[in-house]
Amino acid sequence: MILQEPYIQKAVDLLNYRNAYADVMRLDVVDPVISGNKWFKLKNYLALAREAGSRSIITFGGPYSNHIVATAGACKEMGFSCTGIIRGEAPVTFSHTLLQAQSLGMDLVFISRQDYRDKKIPGKVNQAAAYIIPEGGYGTEGAAGISELLRMFDLTAYSHLFCAVGTGTMMAGLINASPSSLYITGIPVLKSLPGIAGAVSDLLLHNKAENFEFADGFHFNGYAKYNPALISFMNDFYIANNIPTDFVYTGKLFYAVSQITNDPLFTGKKILVVHSGGLQGNLSLPAGTLMF
Ligand SMILES: *Cc1c(COP(=O)(O)O)cnc(C)c1O
Repeated sequence: MILQEPYIQKAVDLLNYRNAYADVMRLDVVDPVISGNKWFKLKNYLALAREAGSRSIITFGGPYSNHIVATAGACKEMGFSCTGIIRGEAPVTFSHTLLQAQSLGMDLVFISRQDYRDKKIPGKVNQAAAYIIPEGGYGTEGAAGISELLRMFDLTAYSHLFCAVGTGTMMAGLINASPSSLYITGIPVLKSLPGIAGAVSDLLLHNKAENFEFADGFHFNGYAKYNPALISFMNDFYIANNIPTDFVYTGKLFYAVSQITNDPLFTGKKILVVHSGGLQGNLSLPAGTLMF
């Protein structure tokens, strides 16, 4: 299903004064459309849909959602028809995300922000024999797919793992499948930390509260917000390591890791960072903002 197996890239320069290095789990390479963590979050839902005999998938997302594009791509490959319920009125010009989802065959249905909050499916959407995947793939099936991914790697050598946090599904799956020697730090890209922390806790299989934390303060003023410091970090990181990042999730993640590990406490620690993909999101930046 995926084009390339994920792998761990060794000794990535974190661009701080301490010259800290980390290994990076490259999920961004698996597929240009069903990018990064999205395939692993989707696969169990799609298997359940197939088992249930469903022909179509319905899911939810914002106009810049990587989950929407990934779902459209996965449905196309697996022969499901699909509908994306999109937050807000239909825009005059579609984002790259929406155009791409549409070109992959997804039906886009726009609903008001209020209806979106209530996850209302409009009457014109045929729900017969449809399987509904929650917004962002949030849920135990999504987390379980991430846990299965971790089994491909031996993580015993690592002391610290860092990941970006949107809905928290990926982080929960990572916590559930990690050895207890691994300390996991999530970098929320949204402002509402209390809600996200609760969402992660709700998906945990065991009580592992001592094994993880959230490092708040790296969201750059909110979801999909950015400033020149973030952009120049992303360009410098690309020059140093030849690793492209996206401005919504992984740019903020690596920026945070660069700052956090610039501390003698991290001397001798073995750090692993999950590059969760999302590069298609950069298409909504003005041309020339990034050098890659
Ligand atoms: C969707 C996404 C995330 C967030 O994953 P959650 O499971 O929703 O927390 C992180 N990074 C990238 C690149 C994503 O596209």
